[in-house]
Amino acid sequence: MNAKNSPGIEPAPNFIRSIVKQHMEDGTFDGRVHTRFPPEPNGFLHIGHAKAIVLSFGIAEEFGGVTNLRFDDTNPIKEESLYVESIIKDVRWLGYDWGDRLFYASDYFETLYEWAVKLIRDGKAFVCDLSAEQVREYRGTLTEPGRESPYRGRSVEENLDLFARMRAGEFADGERTLRAKIDMAAANLNLRDPVMYRIMRAHHHRTGDAWCIYPTYDWAHGQSDSIEGITHSLCTLEFEDHRPLYDWFVEALGVHHPQQIEFAPLNLSYTILSKRKLLQLVREGHVSGWDDPRMPTLSGLRRRGYTPASIRNFCNLIGVGKQLSQVELGQLEYCAREDLNRTALRVNAVLRPLRVVIENYPEGKVEELEAINNPEDPAAGTRRVPFARELFIERTDFMVDPPKKYFRLGPGREVRLRYGYFIRCVDYKTDPATGEVVEVRCTYDPETRGGQAPDGRKVKGTIHWVAAERSVPATVRLYDHLFTVPDPGASGDDFLAHLNPESVEVLRGCRLEAGMAAARAGVPYQFERQGYFCLDEEDSRGGELTFNRTVSLRDSWAKIVQKQGQQGGKPGATGKSGRARKRKRKRDQDQQGSNQ
Ligand code: ATP
Ligand code: MG
Repeated sequence: MNAKNSPGIEPAPNFIRSIVKQHMEDGTFDGRVHTRFPPEPNGFLHIGHAKAIVLSFGIAEEFGGVTNLRFDDTNPIKEESLYVESIIKDVRWLGYDWGDRLFYASDYFETLYEWAVKLIRDGKAFVCDLSAEQVREYRGTLTEPGRESPYRGRSVEENLDLFARMRAGEFADGERTLRAKIDMAAANLNLRDPVMYRIMRAHHHRTGDAWCIYPTYDWAHGQSDSIEGITHSLCTLEFEDHRPLYDWFVEALGVHHPQQIEFAPLNLSYTILSKRKLLQLVREGHVSGWDDPRMPTLSGLRRRGYTPASIRNFCNLIGVGKQLSQVELGQLEYCAREDLNRTALRVNAVLRPLRVVIENYPEGKVEELEAINNPEDPAAGTRRVPFARELFIERTDFMVDPPKKYFRLGPGREVRLRYGYFIRCVDYKTDPATGEVVEVRCTYDPETRGGQAPDGRKVKGTIHWVAAERSVPATVRLYDHLFTVPDPGASGDDFLAHLNPESVEVLRGCRLEAGMAAARAGVPYQFERQGYFCLDEEDSRGGELTFNRTVSLRDSWAKIVQKQGQQGGKPGATGKSGRARKRKRKRDQDQQGSNQ
């Protein structure tokens, strides 16, 4: 186990930890804690799965136990090995290790079959000839009891014979099922003689064509946990009503009985976490793939520049409860900023370049100025950035007729170039056709190298820049929410109506400081005043460097956290004193420069 939380966000105490602790104290499960993460390989993992992963691996780690990775691959129609590979990669990337405990429910098909035979022998399961539709009809409703299948009274011998012939492929798909014989009048619908096996001639990604009957999830899941000796089987709330059935199965079989505990699934604002809907986004081309940087999948978040630590911290910050609620996407972004702020290399990047000519700077001269790599981390050191007569600055850092509170460049105004000199605007040129400013003419004060004037003269604005000739061209993608409403999932299948048509803005012709020619994937960068970015390896291959913005610097959540922290609220658990918080606020403002 190597997934240590970065300082600051420890998992909060929760009801599951209390239960496990109790079990440890009273000797239930002989002091063992053995959890599992059981994905169905029918899609890529998303941030909701991260919550389940961090919880299951985290609990085991805390109590000295272990965790299995198990693929619940009981439905061959929807499952593919592509998904298996991506899931393995993503859990590993998050920082978790299952040792040699990688399992597949399909490994247990034979055992499950034998156990089904045992239930038949004990008169607890029967072969039913009702069609799927009839089974539904007979099932009854929440207010009305169900009706017993006319095949419920079949003899053990007949059931054994028919079940063997189901396996042997003597019947057509859907012609018969094996059902548990429990109680058609049970208040819990899951106990009304649930289907355990259906006939389905489908190729399975691991067992190939060996089987034409497949166990249902309900039949396979609890038994798989039991076979693996799982002690605490943590899952989301929708399985609460299935627990009595899982308990019934293990009791009827007389096998190891894991304790299932349900928790509320993660629901994130402006985000869809249904695999079916995510698949639809991919299939219909609304996004470029499962790893599109706008997707809430782990592969999408990774490509977007999220670090494993930021995701683990997020999962610990939001906590675990039984109450369904929605978590603000801003909390996830907050965790990314907290982590990236510590580690990201600061660089100058001009996203919408405007040429600046410094009239009194010699032509052809290039100076190397010293810039700090990360003010949060002195060990990160400094680098040299070239300065020359022609620069690029951000278009938004110049205004012909600036309003009062605009502290950047305008005719006659002076600003500080970060790590450079003071420059004053003496003139500008416009495109005669459009009136757009195309060049700003300035003078610089050679006495202000490093950003201080010897005469104590102050400037209010500090802007970033790059040397025109030496800068590196790049494409930069800025992202916004994929959906325009906080709860796109609430509108059922109409969620596509809420897709944000402006969820990505692609800026071409950006200019980065010279050293970025050697930018590497997997390294977080802070483009000064613009946010955190990462190189998109795939889209940079063989072409112009392409960067994705992970998050902007604007941090509305930090303010809320700070406020709650001051009031002693929970999310403020960053361990910062009031003064440290004030310093941080000041730093956040500085990072944004005089950006308004
Ligand atoms: P499906 O509808 O295909 O079952 P699923 O998201 O439940 O989708 P699984 O592969 O069954 O996918 O999920 C694996 C595990 O992750 C399960 O234990 C499930 O409870 C958990 N999980 C899934 N979604 C969330 C979520 N939003 N929050 C927390 N845990 C989740
Ligand atoms: Mg599921």
